[in-house]
Amino acid sequence: MGENEQKPPIAAIGGGPGEQVNGPAAGNALNGASSPGKVPVDPLAAIVDVLRRGERFLVCSHSRPDGDAVGSMLATGMLLAQMGKRADLVAADRIPNIYRELPGAEGIRIAMRVHGPYDAVIMLECDSVERTRLRGLEPFFIVNIDHHATGQEFGAINWIDRGAASVGELVYRLVRAAGGTVTPEMATCLYTTILTDTGGFCYGGTRPSTFELARELTQAGADPIRIAQEIYFSTATSKLLLLGAALSNLKREGRLAWLWVTHQDMVRTCAAEEDCEGIVNYAVSIAGVEAAAFLRELPEGAIRLSLRSKGRVDVAAIAARLGGGGHENAAGVTLEGTLTRALGEILAELRSNVSRLAHDSGEGQGREAT
Ligand code: AMP
Ligand code: MN
Ligand code: MN
Repeated sequence: MGENEQKPPIAAIGGGPGEQVNGPAAGNALNGASSPGKVPVDPLAAIVDVLRRGERFLVCSHSRPDGDAVGSMLATGMLLAQMGKRADLVAADRIPNIYRELPGAEGIRIAMRVHGPYDAVIMLECDSVERTRLRGLEPFFIVNIDHHATGQEFGAINWIDRGAASVGELVYRLVRAAGGTVTPEMATCLYTTILTDTGGFCYGGTRPSTFELARELTQAGADPIRIAQEIYFSTATSKLLLLGAALSNLKREGRLAWLWVTHQDMVRTCAAEEDCEGIVNYAVSIAGVEAAAFLRELPEGAIRLSLRSKGRVDVAAIAARLGGGGHENAAGVTLEGTLTRALGEILAELRSNVSRLAHDSGEGQGREAT
């Protein structure tokens, strides 16, 4: 069945894109009744309702999936299986090696296009449909679950909690609300989402509740030592060789630092896409640096940019201005053009942000270029 022939029960109901489904209305909408008007509701309850009523779901996340994307997709798939539903887990890019040992990871299908019929698409941590890089999603009833600062209400139901440490934290709440069981396998996937999105409980989103959730997940069977081994002590040799190339391009200017790799560096070190993950952290780890950028030349000519900050620089706002998004302290965007041009563009943004900060706090900005 093609995507235009999908079953109508959920796709034809409820709010269109951007319209929040209301609680009572969500139920009516699922029965095909008209909406009684805007009644503010709990999107979590509306999502549970959609899961209970539907039979077949697509679960997806953003392209170049990270630990939160993979772990939360897997846990959502497990919940749906517990509920007796069919769930297809699909990603546009391969699953990084460090997440391949996660329970059920072999079941994620890599595809460029999806085909129905689906009663709903559960889209995890995407600020647009395009962010999945999957084609054929538009006709479906989209349940948008996100925790990014730049999250957008583009779905039929939108549950965006910017305070959540990972989208896996929201999936955990969904499992609880739907009456699911947190199995050791599910706990392993969800623990991975928190560990990776908080950078090992280091980044801004880490709160007392993050540790509380980590405790609950370890009690439910997640093994923190084994999971950390898979993620932090299973580095590919190619990644360290690529890191060497990036560090040889490290530049420092006052509160800013940046580094890059060319496509040639990627080829020479036999690096994979996933080997770029985390390189930007070396730049932001420098004492006195507040914001950092990592640029990677893509084979097709564009530049993939990763931004990090550890202070007051809002890199999500900078990335959003350039067409991307993310969190206040971790964001990204893909820019068209050459490395030189992308570097010029991002340095202009970062310098003006940093000098504004310095100005606001009445400091001068020393430039110690290296
Ligand atoms: P990265 O530098 O790729 O690790 O991304 C850092 C954060 O920014 C992650 O939370 C990403 O989901 C988010 N992010 C990266 N690229 C984009 C983009 N093009 N649009 C929206 N969010 C992004
Ligand atoms: Mn992510
Ligand atoms: Mn995330």
